[in-house]
Amino acid sequence: MISIGKAGPDKLVKQSFPLRFGKYSEIKTPDFEFCFNLNGEIKSIRGLKSNWPHPAEQFKRTLGNDWVYYTVGDKSGNDGIISWMGEYYLPCLPYPSNPVWEIRYFSNPVIMSAFAEWSQLFANLYMANSKGFYPQARDLIERILANDDQTLYERSQQLNKIIGGRVSVLPPDTRHADYDIIPLNIADGCLYHCKFCCVKSDQQFQKRSKENIQEQLAALKDYFGANLINYHALFLGNHDALAAGEDLICFSAEEAYRSFGFRQRMDLKPFLYLFGSVGSFLKSDQALFEKLNRLPFYTYINIGFESIDSGTLSLIGKPITSKQVKEAFEKMIEINAAFDGIEITGNFIAGDNLSPEHDGSLTDLLRHANVKRKSKGAIYLSPLKDSPKKRELLPRFHKIKEESRLPVFVYLIQRL
Ligand code: SF4
Repeated sequence: MISIGKAGPDKLVKQSFPLRFGKYSEIKTPDFEFCFNLNGEIKSIRGLKSNWPHPAEQFKRTLGNDWVYYTVGDKSGNDGIISWMGEYYLPCLPYPSNPVWEIRYFSNPVIMSAFAEWSQLFANLYMANSKGFYPQARDLIERILANDDQTLYERSQQLNKIIGGRVSVLPPDTRHADYDIIPLNIADGCLYHCKFCCVKSDQQFQKRSKENIQEQLAALKDYFGANLINYHALFLGNHDALAAGEDLICFSAEEAYRSFGFRQRMDLKPFLYLFGSVGSFLKSDQALFEKLNRLPFYTYINIGFESIDSGTLSLIGKPITSKQVKEAFEKMIEINAAFDGIEITGNFIAGDNLSPEHDGSLTDLLRHANVKRKSKGAIYLSPLKDSPKKRELLPRFHKIKEESRLPVFVYLIQRL
């Protein structure tokens, strides 16, 4: 069954069932549902038969051409995915990351048969006699056939070329847009090059020029084509875009808003995401936040605090002091209280080989956070990649979460 020009809700809302947002097309076979974006690129595959693990589980293909399996997990309630991720699903990544839950979906032949079905569907469309189809169906099939596996891979490489490298990690807050963001790199490298970090690049921090940003914008507009209208979020990369300063951040956000035709959807402004470091955050003055607050975006800035324990900071090779972390943490609370259109969130590391002082000082910090609105300013706990027993960390997370006056979630390191 071919359905062209389907339209889901315009505004993103969190649902326990995978609601389709925006405009897309769909092909259903007796066993699977395949969704395509407006360029005819495959976007998701979901099993329809009773042997599929759960009706809400599916594969989603990212802009980087990764097939990510969305699972509802193996537990519900307080120990379940929703309480830890803040979302109804856990994205299972097809590359090494820092997951707390290892869901071995690839050893389930029912789940993996989705790919064989996709190849079969592609072959069937190729062989189909298009004469009998309505013109719109013929047009959709042509677009799908123009996007074979090799083309999809090449498209992902083309995106990296436009922005000057792959986005190796997305801010945790991009979960609010289901990780569907348009990337725009306004700076490269970072200030610290910490020893523990698995996503850093070798580059020294350097801002991009406004000309480079204009070139990216033009190429990205062309790259996303008809499907641009389905995006509602912008990520200014890469690891410390906040250090690029007020002028470049606001210029890039405003130009992107115009070029990509972002707009408010009902009461929901488009999202603007960026990373910041403790150093760049402490340096950012009131004028920057006032200007960001006036942008037609809701802005999330995610800061890498990592620890408030000096011993841990030196163990992981992060060249900042616990005093600076404390100062930045307090500034986060102030900014969140002062600006309706800005939300600062923070990351701390977690690992079973870290000292009790790390957990203790973090619990203490979060327990005494001077906040009025608990819903704003989430803290993300990021398991270290080499931590062997990640699931065993959950009781420790739970203790920190229970005592915290701020929302606490687990940070899954995900690339674009
Ligand atoms: S944690 Fe952040 S600042 Fe440190 S190396 Fe990684 S990207 Fe750079």
